[in-house]
Amino acid sequence: MKVVKFGGSSMADAGQYRKVRDILLADPERMVVIVSAAGKRSKDDHKITDLLYLCHSHVKYGVDCSRIFKMISSRYLDIQRDLDLDIDLMPELTDLKRRIDAKSITREELVSRGEYFSAKLMAAYLGFQFIDAADWVIFNMDGTVNQTDSYRALRERITPGHGAVIPGFYGSMPDGTIHTFSRGGSDITGSLAAAALDADVYENWTDVSGILMADPRLVDDPQAIPEVTYDELRELSYSGAQVLHEDSIFPVREKNIPVNIRNTNDPTAPGTMIQEDFDGNNDPDRFITGITGKKDFSIISLSKRGMSNQVGVLYKVLKVLVRHNISVDYVPNGIDNVSVVLPTSAIEKNLYTIMAEIKQEVEPDTLDVHHHIAVVAAVGRRMAFRPGISGKIFAALGESGINIRMINQGPDELNIIFGVDNKDFEAAIRVLYNSFVK
Ligand code: ADP
Ligand code: ASP
Ligand code: MG
Repeated sequence: MKVVKFGGSSMADAGQYRKVRDILLADPERMVVIVSAAGKRSKDDHKITDLLYLCHSHVKYGVDCSRIFKMISSRYLDIQRDLDLDIDLMPELTDLKRRIDAKSITREELVSRGEYFSAKLMAAYLGFQFIDAADWVIFNMDGTVNQTDSYRALRERITPGHGAVIPGFYGSMPDGTIHTFSRGGSDITGSLAAAALDADVYENWTDVSGILMADPRLVDDPQAIPEVTYDELRELSYSGAQVLHEDSIFPVREKNIPVNIRNTNDPTAPGTMIQEDFDGNNDPDRFITGITGKKDFSIISLSKRGMSNQVGVLYKVLKVLVRHNISVDYVPNGIDNVSVVLPTSAIEKNLYTIMAEIKQEVEPDTLDVHHHIAVVAAVGRRMAFRPGISGKIFAALGESGINIRMINQGPDELNIIFGVDNKDFEAAIRVLYNSFVK
């Protein structure tokens, strides 16, 4: 049995619903379907989830959201009409609007309704059972998922041999209120369903033919990666390639269920297979699996003579950051200096306090902070134990006049990470892609 998840663009309008149905009809093992809220129909269209968040902030500040609500409801009513579905969403939509106006709905419940209405419509279209995520995705008080209870609840609700449609993105807190995952969280719902039902594969259908070697918004027509290990995917998505929600890997990985990223608009493309390991090496010359990155980091650097002989300097720096509840991404260091690299957003508010506290704890000779840094990551399981790769990467960047501000390699040699100025970010990604992929 296969669990299949369709993202926002696959649910955007009636035409996309037809593609989804064809994909399901092509393989009867595709029995359990997780859906996102309707996404963009074109580049400048709106995602329903964004409109729902907007609706909530309007009402919160006392501004009427009727116009936005109309855009939301007509999207779903259009799909219902275009597919001639025998389901009436009006009573639920009217009640939802009443609760919004009366401020008697929480933000999380409101934004979850995008997935809810998608699933209602898709279930009616396919003639599948509708299973509400609120009835089986059960959160603990700390916001983590109670996997044992959730898996049991889903297994109890599935009718063997009968298809089911489940809305992604949300579940219930122990007190019954609706709680959502972070943005893009329908991927997690799909992964939980696949794990609960011991699926043979978790297919994640989106608008690209797999994980691409670089962000298609930065590189023209990048190649798709046929095979990615779970570890590589963690690195890629942590560093910026947000095709799959980074937390969606854990449930399937525990059960060794492969993930297959596929394209709803090009269903014959094989997409990307993600699993623990691959036998053999299909492409020995290819040592970079993917290139990715994020902007807007800061580097706090300090130096202190004789630091390498002193115990606890790094500890003192990290202690300050822990006190402010800040996690650090990378810690490059030299003999008598150390830097911490973290998202600027994490330190912005308390920067002067943090710097003052580090100064007091460590008494460094120098202490600086640099902002507007982008982090770029080259990820690849075949980089390990291959000398000379970082040399080639830095030579390529140097030839293009890109200045490197920081270098870091993970101990498992699965990635090489470097910092450049924000303004060089796009160029750095393109230089790497053109030097190592093409
Ligand atoms: P969905 O709505 O189906 O969940 P997402 O928008 O969350 O889809 O993810 C797919 C998008 O991720 C692509 O359209 C693409 O713009 C973006 N993306 C960023 N980096 C990559 C990459 N390395 N490979 C593929 N897609 C990428
Ligand atoms: N609709 C939600 C979002 O836009 C969840 C998802 O699509 O995965 O974040
Ligand atoms: Mg997504």
